[in-house]
Amino acid sequence: MNTAWHAANPIPRSPRPTARIAWHVAHAQECGCRPAPAAFAEAVEAALKVS
Ligand SMILES: [Zn+2]
Repeated sequence: MNTAWHAANPIPRSPRPTARIAWHVAHAQECGCRPAPAAFAEAVEAALKVS
């Protein structure tokens, strides 16, 4: 687990899906200690393939 990244990047409190998807995309790239929730997994995977 990338504790430094987590300390610098708290999970967004915003309920907006876009904010949470962006967090999970960055998380998958920088840490990945746990998978994105199923509701976001497809969008996160798509974003990772593009980048
Ligand atoms: Zn993590």
